[in-house]
Amino acid sequence: MIRVRFAPSPTGYLHLGNIRTALFNYLFAKRQGGKYILRIEDTDRDRSGLEYEQALMDDLRWMGLEWDEGPDVGGPFGPYRQSERLQIYQACVDQLLAEGKAYECYVTPEEVEEMKHLAKVEKRTLHFDNRGRYFTKEEIERRKCRGIRPTVRFKIEKPLLKIHDLIRGEVAFNLDDMVGDFIIRRADGTPTFHLAVCVDDALMQITHVIRGEDHLSNTPKHILLLEALGYQPPQYGHLSLVHGPGGEPLSKRLDSISVRFFRQKGYLPHAVANYIALLGWSPGDDREVIPWEELKGMFDLARVSKSSSCYDPQKLDWLNGEHLRLLSDKEFSDFAMKYLKSKEKMEDEEMVLKILPAFKDNIERLEQLAERLQFLKEDFSYEEAAWIRNDESRELFGQAISVLDEMQVVGNDFYQNFLDQLKKRVKARGKNLMLPLRLAVTGKVHGPELKRIIPVLVIEFLRKRLRRALHA
Ligand code: GLU
Repeated sequence: MIRVRFAPSPTGYLHLGNIRTALFNYLFAKRQGGKYILRIEDTDRDRSGLEYEQALMDDLRWMGLEWDEGPDVGGPFGPYRQSERLQIYQACVDQLLAEGKAYECYVTPEEVEEMKHLAKVEKRTLHFDNRGRYFTKEEIERRKCRGIRPTVRFKIEKPLLKIHDLIRGEVAFNLDDMVGDFIIRRADGTPTFHLAVCVDDALMQITHVIRGEDHLSNTPKHILLLEALGYQPPQYGHLSLVHGPGGEPLSKRLDSISVRFFRQKGYLPHAVANYIALLGWSPGDDREVIPWEELKGMFDLARVSKSSSCYDPQKLDWLNGEHLRLLSDKEFSDFAMKYLKSKEKMEDEEMVLKILPAFKDNIERLEQLAERLQFLKEDFSYEEAAWIRNDESRELFGQAISVLDEMQVVGNDFYQNFLDQLKKRVKARGKNLMLPLRLAVTGKVHGPELKRIIPVLVIEFLRKRLRRALHA
């Protein structure tokens, strides 16, 4: 059975980069009938926060990326929060120490700093020279007496390693050049990321690790560590990075790429998922709008590209518009209503609900609705007011009010009747007729067709709008 995990550190909000990792893991598991696990990597206690953990779970659920096992839902391989697994990590460190595969290292942080400094001066990449492995018993005693607390380092015995990456193919490493023996337990007794991630992947029986390219250089370490612990390493696939529209690296700290931001702006979760899936993956033809249920049946790691991709907010907007139009009127209204209510108190809910479907065809984000619906309030302003404030338009509004006074029932043919009657009384036609009317009723030059709006409005409301325009 395929088992994958998404393993975020709760040190900030979910953003485009890590939500893509979550999505690809989820889609990969779903297509294959496997399990998708959420693991919280919170061993860095200073930077991790419970509020971020809550927020990331909330954002994942909003995206529809519900996990099969995780901190809140449990599962057979828990706990799923690393801070609750410290004893398990300690037992693994003890095992490696007992088998001579790791050692207590009394090299001080100052000495490591010095090595770094020297490497910088000599313009070489830093790697630990493993000196702590060869300290004599006496040297170790002396250091203990100075109060130095040891780290535990893993011995790299096999520095040359080739891995088969599911996305990038064969990748070769020389760990001697890269790192040297690396720390698996800090001097304060806490496990490092490398140890925790390997122990958890092994014990949670993870079969495929799909993660960002920034972890590629960690993978050889992880394979050696897993083998030393007696486990068969999972298969690895590293996703290329996502860059900004101009090819610049995307900063995790940028608010405008967080899932929070997408939620606030009124994007549909399925549109965001569709957009993010296309950052590096393609369905094999030039289709771009892919509904969620289909996406779940289509995703394939073999079609994930190893070149980096660029985030294009305009394309996200376009895709979101397309997804809005895939919704039924009822689905659209429900979703939009929930969004609008989360933003502000709603006064005329019944009217809003009736009018919402008219906007489905011409918005890209729900955020635009608040502005479009301004005309339901009394104090909206007119775009291009000159079209309102001229004699021909005033004449038009005056006549429109008289037509309304004579019409009693708002039926199916109300709009057509209204327009027919009006045309008998005024000379204006085409744009000269429709634009002032649209401005009077909605305050906007663009937007849904009047024939979709007017029948929904109550006569009294229409009359008020026309009177307001007449005296504007
Ligand atoms: N916690 C790691 C991160 O947030 C992920 C580690 C992994 O996927 O192996 O980058």
